[in-house]
Amino acid sequence: MFLLFDIGGTNMRIAVSTDGQTISNSKIVPTPKEFDQGILDFKQVADELSKGEKIEGIAGGVAGPIDKEKTCLVKSPNIPGWINKPLKTELEKAFNCKVILENDTTVGGIGEAVAGAGKGSKIVAYIALGSGVGGKRVVDGKVPEDSFNFEPGHQIIVPFGDLCKCGGKGHMEPYVSGAYFEKKLGQKGENIIDQKIWDEITRYLAIGLVNATVFWTPDIIVLGGSVSKSIPLEKVNSYLKEFLTIYPTAPQVVLGALGHDAGFYGALELLK
Ligand SMILES: [Zn+2]
Repeated sequence: MFLLFDIGGTNMRIAVSTDGQTISNSKIVPTPKEFDQGILDFKQVADELSKGEKIEGIAGGVAGPIDKEKTCLVKSPNIPGWINKPLKTELEKAFNCKVILENDTTVGGIGEAVAGAGKGSKIVAYIALGSGVGGKRVVDGKVPEDSFNFEPGHQIIVPFGDLCKCGGKGHMEPYVSGAYFEKKLGQKGENIIDQKIWDEITRYLAIGLVNATVFWTPDIIVLGGSVSKSIPLEKVNSYLKEFLTIYPTAPQVVLGALGHDAGFYGALELLK
Protein backbone atom coordinates (compact mmCIF):
# COMPACT_ATOMS: atom_id res chain seq x y z
CA MET A 1 0.00 0.00 0.00
CA PHE A 2 1.17 3.52 -0.85
CA LEU A 3 0.51 6.76 0.95
CA LEU A 4 0.02 10.04 -0.98
CA PHE A 5 -0.27 13.54 0.41
CA ASP A 6 -0.80 17.17 -0.50
CA ILE A 7 -0.09 19.53 2.39
CA GLY A 8 -1.51 22.97 1.73
CA GLY A 9 -1.59 26.13 3.82
CA THR A 10 -5.20 25.43 4.81
CA ASN A 11 -5.84 21.70 4.33
CA MET A 12 -3.93 18.44 4.26
CA ARG A 13 -5.13 15.87 1.75
CA ILE A 14 -4.04 12.31 2.38
CA ALA A 15 -4.81 9.26 0.22
CA VAL A 16 -3.92 5.59 -0.05
CA SER A 17 -3.38 3.51 -3.15
CA THR A 18 -3.38 -0.27 -2.98
CA ASP A 19 -2.23 -0.90 -6.56
CA GLY A 20 0.14 2.06 -7.04
CA GLN A 21 -1.98 3.22 -10.02
CA THR A 22 -5.28 4.47 -8.64
CA ILE A 23 -6.54 6.26 -5.53
CA SER A 24 -8.30 3.85 -3.17
CA ASN A 25 -9.43 6.24 -0.45
CA SER A 26 -8.70 9.77 0.71
CA LYS A 27 -9.41 12.26 3.47
CA ILE A 28 -9.07 16.03 3.97
CA VAL A 29 -8.25 17.56 7.36
CA PRO A 30 -7.18 21.10 8.35
CA THR A 31 -3.41 21.67 8.32
CA PRO A 32 -2.35 22.25 11.94
CA LYS A 33 -0.33 25.45 12.46
CA GLU A 34 2.32 23.55 14.43
CA PHE A 35 4.51 20.94 12.78
CA ASP A 36 4.48 18.39 15.64
CA GLN A 37 0.68 18.36 15.66
CA GLY A 38 0.77 18.07 11.86
CA ILE A 39 2.79 14.85 12.04
CA LEU A 40 0.42 13.44 14.70
CA ASP A 41 -2.67 14.27 12.61
CA PHE A 42 -1.02 12.93 9.45
CA LYS A 43 -0.22 9.62 11.17
CA GLN A 44 -3.73 9.31 12.56
CA VAL A 45 -5.41 9.89 9.18
CA ALA A 46 -2.93 7.59 7.42
CA ASP A 47 -3.54 4.77 9.93
CA GLU A 48 -7.29 5.21 9.49
CA LEU A 49 -7.04 5.05 5.67
CA SER A 50 -4.55 2.17 5.52
CA LYS A 51 -6.33 0.17 8.25
CA GLY A 52 -2.98 -0.88 9.64
CA GLU A 53 -1.66 -2.32 6.35
CA LYS A 54 2.07 -1.97 5.74
CA ILE A 55 3.01 1.25 3.87
CA GLU A 56 5.59 0.56 1.14
CA GLY A 57 6.21 4.11 0.02
CA ILE A 58 5.09 7.70 0.61
CA ALA A 59 5.13 10.67 -1.76
CA GLY A 60 3.55 14.07 -1.92
CA GLY A 61 3.80 17.82 -2.10
CA VAL A 62 3.88 20.68 0.34
CA ALA A 63 2.83 24.28 -0.39
CA GLY A 64 5.97 26.33 -0.76
CA PRO A 65 9.61 26.02 -1.76
CA ILE A 66 11.55 23.10 -0.26
CA ASP A 67 15.27 22.73 0.45
CA LYS A 68 17.69 21.36 -2.17
CA GLU A 69 17.88 17.96 -0.41
CA LYS A 70 14.04 17.82 -0.53
CA THR A 71 13.54 17.21 3.17
CA CYS A 72 11.63 20.24 4.44
CA LEU A 73 9.67 23.38 3.66
CA VAL A 74 11.87 26.50 3.63
CA LYS A 75 9.31 29.27 3.17
CA SER A 76 5.59 29.64 3.82
CA PRO A 77 3.32 32.55 4.67
CA ASN A 78 0.48 30.24 5.73
CA ILE A 79 2.17 27.56 7.83
CA PRO A 80 5.32 29.22 9.27
CA GLY A 81 5.32 26.59 12.04
CA TRP A 82 6.42 23.98 9.43
CA ILE A 83 9.44 25.94 8.10
CA ASN A 84 12.76 24.05 8.38
CA LYS A 85 11.04 21.21 10.27
CA PRO A 86 12.21 17.68 9.31
CA LEU A 87 9.07 16.62 7.41
CA LYS A 88 10.69 13.87 5.35
CA THR A 89 12.64 12.40 8.29
CA GLU A 90 9.64 12.41 10.63
CA LEU A 91 7.47 10.62 8.05
CA GLU A 92 10.24 8.08 7.41
CA LYS A 93 10.44 7.45 11.15
CA ALA A 94 6.67 7.22 11.60
CA PHE A 95 6.09 4.77 8.73
CA ASN A 96 9.50 3.12 8.34
CA CYS A 97 9.60 3.45 4.54
CA LYS A 98 10.92 5.62 1.71
CA VAL A 99 9.45 9.16 1.51
CA ILE A 100 9.57 11.47 -1.53
CA LEU A 101 8.91 15.15 -0.82
CA GLU A 102 8.31 17.77 -3.50
CA ASN A 103 6.84 21.22 -3.97
CA ASP A 104 3.06 20.97 -4.43
CA THR A 105 3.01 22.71 -7.83
CA THR A 106 5.58 20.21 -9.09
CA VAL A 107 3.46 17.28 -7.94
CA GLY A 108 0.22 18.78 -9.32
CA GLY A 109 1.90 19.53 -12.65
CA ILE A 110 3.24 15.98 -12.96
CA GLY A 111 -0.22 14.63 -12.09
CA GLU A 112 -1.95 16.66 -14.81
CA ALA A 113 0.81 15.80 -17.30
CA VAL A 114 0.64 12.01 -16.84
CA ALA A 115 -2.96 11.34 -15.81
CA GLY A 116 -4.94 14.52 -16.53
CA ALA A 117 -5.37 17.15 -19.23
CA GLY A 118 -1.76 16.86 -20.42
CA LYS A 119 -1.84 13.08 -20.88
CA GLY A 120 -0.35 12.16 -24.26
CA SER A 121 1.60 15.42 -24.66
CA LYS A 122 5.38 15.33 -24.43
CA ILE A 123 5.98 18.83 -23.05
CA VAL A 124 3.36 20.27 -20.73
CA ALA A 125 3.38 23.80 -19.31
CA TYR A 126 1.43 23.67 -16.07
CA ILE A 127 0.33 27.05 -14.71
CA ALA A 128 -1.37 27.08 -11.30
CA LEU A 129 -3.60 30.09 -10.77
CA GLY A 130 -4.57 30.36 -7.12
CA SER A 131 -4.14 33.13 -4.59
CA GLY A 132 -0.65 33.27 -6.14
CA VAL A 133 0.67 31.96 -9.45
CA GLY A 134 3.05 29.03 -9.83
CA GLY A 135 4.00 26.71 -12.64
CA LYS A 136 6.16 23.92 -13.93
CA ARG A 137 7.49 22.59 -17.21
CA VAL A 138 6.88 18.84 -17.32
CA VAL A 139 8.71 16.75 -19.93
CA ASP A 140 7.80 13.07 -20.37
CA GLY A 141 6.16 13.13 -16.94
CA LYS A 142 9.19 14.62 -15.21
CA VAL A 143 10.14 18.10 -14.04
CA PRO A 144 13.63 18.86 -15.37
CA GLU A 145 16.33 19.86 -12.88
CA ASP A 146 16.42 23.59 -12.26
CA SER A 147 18.86 25.82 -10.38
CA PHE A 148 15.92 27.76 -8.97
CA ASN A 149 12.23 26.98 -8.93
CA PHE A 150 10.42 28.01 -12.10
CA GLU A 151 8.45 31.12 -11.13
CA PRO A 152 6.19 32.06 -14.07
CA GLY A 153 4.06 34.20 -11.73
CA HIS A 154 7.04 36.52 -11.22
CA GLN A 155 7.87 37.21 -14.86
CA ILE A 156 7.53 40.90 -15.72
CA ILE A 157 4.56 41.50 -18.02
CA VAL A 158 4.10 45.27 -17.39
CA PRO A 159 7.25 47.44 -17.13
CA PHE A 160 7.26 49.20 -13.71
CA GLY A 161 3.70 47.98 -13.17
CA ASP A 162 1.73 46.92 -10.08
CA LEU A 163 3.56 45.89 -6.94
CA CYS A 164 3.90 42.13 -6.45
CA LYS A 165 4.00 40.58 -2.98
CA CYS A 166 7.59 39.46 -3.69
CA GLY A 167 8.61 43.15 -3.85
CA GLY A 168 8.94 43.34 -7.65
CA LYS A 169 6.86 45.44 -10.01
CA GLY A 170 4.70 44.47 -12.97
CA HIS A 171 4.92 40.72 -12.37
CA MET A 172 2.16 38.46 -13.72
CA GLU A 173 0.90 37.49 -10.26
CA PRO A 174 -0.68 40.85 -9.30
CA TYR A 175 -2.56 40.86 -12.62
CA VAL A 176 -4.05 37.37 -12.75
CA SER A 177 -4.18 35.86 -9.25
CA GLY A 178 -6.99 35.36 -6.77
CA ALA A 179 -5.35 37.66 -4.23
CA TYR A 180 -5.35 40.41 -6.87
CA PHE A 181 -9.05 39.95 -7.62
CA GLU A 182 -9.90 40.31 -3.95
CA LYS A 183 -7.51 43.17 -3.25
CA LYS A 184 -8.16 45.32 -6.30
CA LEU A 185 -11.65 44.33 -7.35
CA GLY A 186 -13.02 43.33 -3.94
CA GLN A 187 -14.43 40.05 -5.26
CA LYS A 188 -13.48 36.45 -5.91
CA GLY A 189 -12.87 35.27 -9.47
CA GLU A 190 -16.06 33.21 -9.61
CA ASN A 191 -18.11 36.33 -8.79
CA ILE A 192 -16.71 38.58 -11.53
CA ILE A 193 -19.26 38.93 -14.32
CA ASP A 194 -18.02 42.12 -16.02
CA GLN A 195 -16.65 40.98 -19.40
CA LYS A 196 -14.43 44.08 -19.66
CA ILE A 197 -12.59 43.00 -16.50
CA TRP A 198 -12.19 39.45 -17.83
CA ASP A 199 -10.93 40.82 -21.10
CA GLU A 200 -8.16 42.70 -19.29
CA ILE A 201 -7.26 39.74 -17.05
CA THR A 202 -7.11 37.28 -19.96
CA ARG A 203 -4.94 39.67 -21.99
CA TYR A 204 -2.39 39.84 -19.18
CA LEU A 205 -2.55 36.08 -18.72
CA ALA A 206 -2.03 35.55 -22.46
CA ILE A 207 1.09 37.76 -22.37
CA GLY A 208 2.47 35.57 -19.59
CA LEU A 209 1.61 32.44 -21.58
CA VAL A 210 3.34 33.80 -24.70
CA ASN A 211 6.51 34.14 -22.62
CA ALA A 212 6.03 30.66 -21.15
CA THR A 213 5.60 29.32 -24.68
CA VAL A 214 8.68 30.91 -26.25
CA PHE A 215 10.88 29.76 -23.37
CA TRP A 216 9.27 26.36 -22.62
CA THR A 217 7.93 25.35 -26.08
CA PRO A 218 5.06 23.30 -24.66
CA ASP A 219 2.73 21.08 -26.71
CA ILE A 220 -0.09 22.06 -24.38
CA ILE A 221 -0.70 24.55 -21.56
CA VAL A 222 -2.71 23.23 -18.61
CA LEU A 223 -4.25 25.72 -16.18
CA GLY A 224 -4.78 24.47 -12.64
CA GLY A 225 -5.53 26.10 -9.30
CA SER A 226 -8.69 27.53 -7.78
CA VAL A 227 -8.91 30.58 -10.07
CA SER A 228 -8.54 28.62 -13.32
CA LYS A 229 -12.19 27.54 -13.44
CA SER A 230 -13.31 31.18 -13.62
CA ILE A 231 -11.02 32.09 -16.54
CA PRO A 232 -12.76 32.41 -19.96
CA LEU A 233 -10.59 29.91 -21.86
CA GLU A 234 -11.73 30.89 -25.35
CA LYS A 235 -10.53 34.45 -24.77
CA VAL A 236 -7.16 33.22 -23.47
CA ASN A 237 -6.69 30.96 -26.49
CA SER A 238 -7.68 33.70 -28.87
CA TYR A 239 -5.28 36.27 -27.33
CA LEU A 240 -2.48 33.70 -27.22
CA LYS A 241 -2.96 33.04 -30.95
CA GLU A 242 -3.00 36.77 -31.66
CA PHE A 243 0.15 37.58 -29.63
CA LEU A 244 2.24 34.50 -30.45
CA THR A 245 3.25 35.51 -33.94
CA ILE A 246 6.52 33.58 -34.24
CA TYR A 247 4.93 30.10 -34.51
CA PRO A 248 2.42 28.88 -37.10
CA THR A 249 0.19 27.52 -34.33
CA ALA A 250 -0.18 28.26 -30.63
CA PRO A 251 -0.36 25.50 -28.02
CA GLN A 252 -3.88 24.85 -26.80
CA VAL A 253 -4.69 26.23 -23.35
CA VAL A 254 -6.89 23.80 -21.41
CA LEU A 255 -8.20 23.39 -17.88
CA GLY A 256 -6.72 20.77 -15.58
CA ALA A 257 -8.81 17.60 -15.45
CA LEU A 258 -8.01 16.26 -11.99
CA GLY A 259 -8.82 19.15 -9.62
CA HIS A 260 -7.45 18.55 -6.14
CA ASP A 261 -6.55 14.95 -7.03
CA ALA A 262 -3.77 16.16 -9.38
CA GLY A 263 -1.36 16.04 -6.44
CA PHE A 264 -2.25 12.42 -5.68
CA TYR A 265 -1.65 11.29 -9.27
CA GLY A 266 1.61 13.24 -9.36
CA ALA A 267 2.68 11.55 -6.12
CA LEU A 268 1.88 8.11 -7.60
CA GLU A 269 4.11 8.97 -10.57
CA LEU A 270 6.95 9.99 -8.24
CA LEU A 271 6.74 6.56 -6.56
CA LYS A 272 7.17 4.68 -9.86
ZN1 LIG B 1 6.61 38.82 -7.94
